[in-house]
Amino acid sequence: MGYSIETRCLHLEEEKKGDIYGAVSFPIYQTATFAHKGVGGSTGYDYSRLQNPTREQLEKTVASLEKGIDALAFSSGMAAIATLMECFKPGDHLIVDSDLYGGSIRLFQNISEKNGIEISSVDLYRESAAEYVKDNTKAVYIETPTNPMMNVTDIRKLADFTKSRDLMLIVDNTFLSPYFQNPLELGADVVVHSGTKYLGGHNDTIAGFLVTGRVDISEKLRFLIKTTGAGLAPFDSWLILRGIKTLALRMERAQENAMAIALWLKEQEHVTRVIYTGLKENPGYEIMKKQARGFGGMLTFEVDTKEFALSILNHVKLIQFAESLGGTETLITYPITQTHADVPPDKLAANGISDRILRVSVGIEGKEDLIGELKRVFQLAKEENYG
Ligand SMILES: *Cc1c(COP(=O)(O)O)cnc(C)c1O
Repeated sequence: MGYSIETRCLHLEEEKKGDIYGAVSFPIYQTATFAHKGVGGSTGYDYSRLQNPTREQLEKTVASLEKGIDALAFSSGMAAIATLMECFKPGDHLIVDSDLYGGSIRLFQNISEKNGIEISSVDLYRESAAEYVKDNTKAVYIETPTNPMMNVTDIRKLADFTKSRDLMLIVDNTFLSPYFQNPLELGADVVVHSGTKYLGGHNDTIAGFLVTGRVDISEKLRFLIKTTGAGLAPFDSWLILRGIKTLALRMERAQENAMAIALWLKEQEHVTRVIYTGLKENPGYEIMKKQARGFGGMLTFEVDTKEFALSILNHVKLIQFAESLGGTETLITYPITQTHADVPPDKLAANGISDRILRVSVGIEGKEDLIGELKRVFQLAKEENYG
C-alpha cells in the first residue's frame, strides 16, 4: 500500500489542495491572515502563525516521509527542539545522548536546566538507559548516528525499553534523513529534523521539524506552535518543499561519494582513523544494516597532528570549510572550534572529539573531483608539516 519514498518526495497520496490553476509547483501563500466569508466561514486557515497552506503542504510531505501522523515545520532545527522542550515542566528529568549536535547540548545545559529540567548525559550507544531512569524521568533523547563521532544506537531496543517505562523516545534523524531511516517505525515517539540539512538540501535556508505518530503529542505540539510562534514562513516552506523533491537522488549520490572518500582516506598515511558507518569495521555497521536503508553522506576522520588538520582546513577550495551539513556542496567542519565550540572540554575528551578530528558532509559533486581535491590538499599538508 502507498507510494514509494521516491514518489512521496514529490506527491502526497491525498489530493493536492489549494490551487485552482493546476500549478505543478505548490504555490507560496505569502499572506499573514485569511478573510472569512462570513461568521463561521473560515476557509480552514485563519492566521499564518497557526497554519498556512504552503507550510501545511510541507508538513504533510514530511509526515508522509517519516510515516508520522503529524509533522510541524519550524523556523530552525533549534526552534523545533526548544518548542519540544516546552512539553516538559520543572522537576522533569531527561536522559540525553552525550554525543549530540553542539546546539542541542547548549540548549539543554543553558535553557532547559534553567527552566528546572534535569538533564543526564549518557552514552546511549553503549550504556543502558535503565541505569539512569529515576521517578521523574520523562524522556530519552538521542541522535543516531551521532554528530560527529557516528556512534550508532539500536533504536528498536531502546524503544522497547522506553515503552515499558512510559518514557517519550525522541530521535534526531537529521544525519540520515527520512530517506534512509524512519525512527517512528522502530518505536520512537518523536522525530526531530534540522530541515536546514538534507531535507532542504541546498545550503540555502534554515528550517526544523518535529514529527510524531502519537495523537496526544501532536495535539500538545500544535498548541505549542500556535502559542509560541516559531512556525516556518511560507517562502521557506516552499524552499524546503522544493529541496525535498530531489531528496532521494541527493542521498544516493552523497552516499556513493562518501563511501569513495572513506575508502580513499583509509589508505592515507597521516589519517589515523576513518569513521563512516558504511565501513564493515565500524562498530555501528550491523545495527545500521538492521535499522536503516543506507549509511548516508556524513563521515569523520582523524589525522595524526593538529597541524595537519589545520593545513587541510587552510588549503581546501572546492570543498568548503564551513559549518552545517546535508547540502549539495561538500563541506568540511572542525567540530572543536565550530559545531562543538560550546561543549565543555571534559565532554569533548570523553567523546574523542580532539583538535585532530575533521568532519565531512559529502555533497553531490563528481567524486573524481572531490578525491582530486583531497589529494591536492593532503600533498600540501604533507609538505607543510613533514617537509
Ligand atoms: C543542525 C542540526 C540541528 C540544529 O538545526 P538548525 O536548523 O541549525 O537550527 C539539530 N540537530 C542536528 C543533528 C543538526 O545537525
